[in-house]
Amino acid sequence: MFQRQILHLDMDAFFVSVERVLNPDLRARPVVVGSDNPLGRGVVAAASYEARVFGVHSGMALRQAYRLCPKAVFVAGTPGAYGEASRAIRRLCEELAPAIEMASIDEAYLDLTGTGRLYPSVGAVADTLRRRIAEELGLSASFGWGENKLLSKVASARSKPHGLLRVYPGCGRLFLAPLALRRLPGIGPRNADLLARYGLTRIGELEILGEKRLYEALGEVGRVLYHRARGEDESPVVVHAPPQSVSREHTYETDTSHRPTLSTTLSLLSERVAAALRREGQRARRVTLKLRYSDFKTVTRTTSLAIPADDDRTIYHAAVQALDAAYTRRVRARLVGVAAADLTSEPWTLDLFEGDRAERLERMLRGVDQIRRRWGFDSILRGRSCG
Ligand SMILES: [Mg+2]
Repeated sequence: MFQRQILHLDMDAFFVSVERVLNPDLRARPVVVGSDNPLGRGVVAAASYEARVFGVHSGMALRQAYRLCPKAVFVAGTPGAYGEASRAIRRLCEELAPAIEMASIDEAYLDLTGTGRLYPSVGAVADTLRRRIAEELGLSASFGWGENKLLSKVASARSKPHGLLRVYPGCGRLFLAPLALRRLPGIGPRNADLLARYGLTRIGELEILGEKRLYEALGEVGRVLYHRARGEDESPVVVHAPPQSVSREHTYETDTSHRPTLSTTLSLLSERVAAALRREGQRARRVTLKLRYSDFKTVTRTTSLAIPADDDRTIYHAAVQALDAAYTRRVRARLVGVAAADLTSEPWTLDLFEGDRAERLERMLRGVDQIRRRWGFDSILRGRSCG
């Protein structure tokens, strides 16, 4: 088969490193990102290596982190800055690689297959990226280089911090075999427990157990893990094009002209649109309201925003004002919709706002997103979205 060249980039202690760029006083000190109140009820979003030494890790309750490492500096986190740094990293990658997939805010796969004439080697691309990320952003990245995504990802984790590790073609099995099971992508805590009951602790033991037995124990997942344990992975680097627009609509069970009901719907739709924008790291320059009357006649009205927005408040106000202007007939509404368009991922210039208010807003939205990731979208809603 055609030999692929995949590079996996993973930022080292990403949130903490960004915080240190914003506040150099945090350097070389144990830092916990999550909340500036360690006695609060939140969880650790990220911990610096200096804090991890004490056993602090992400997902842990803040109070426990505080017990383990009381001298750590606790900070609330600055999601806007993480998004900006992530987009800057993506732009640097795009300058060098023909195909890149952002796997998360601080992680990317670069497909460098067939770039042999552009660069002396894939390692040279990694070196250039590592140097530019350090010089231009003040951040540290690690790289894994292999014949597929799986091997490059496991390799980058083993090259931390600030390293590059190559798995040579054909050496995947040997590379993986001695590693702990949980190093294999796809093995969650549940499967790890299950496999531990069979006495399995190393990736190589999966292969010895065999495909048939793994299938019997874990079903289809077992089959997948067997092939992964052999270092096999055909999945392509998927270039994710950012969306052109984000929209949400609601059709009423019973047509209505009740204004409070319409406002409640617009509020809920705005919250959904704004959450989707933030997930994509995009801000909208335009908001479009859609109104369909019970006779199916449909009107739309577009508002341009002074500053690109990804918060539901701005989007909701634009939508409600548009509804006021667009709802002219004495006919009930069948459907309303909110669309955000003309999207941009360009860094947001903070000083357009008073910095303080913007930062509080960011923090609030990040809290909302975090709660939703954990408990579902409806777990937290604006009062006006509840009708
Ligand atoms: Mg990382």
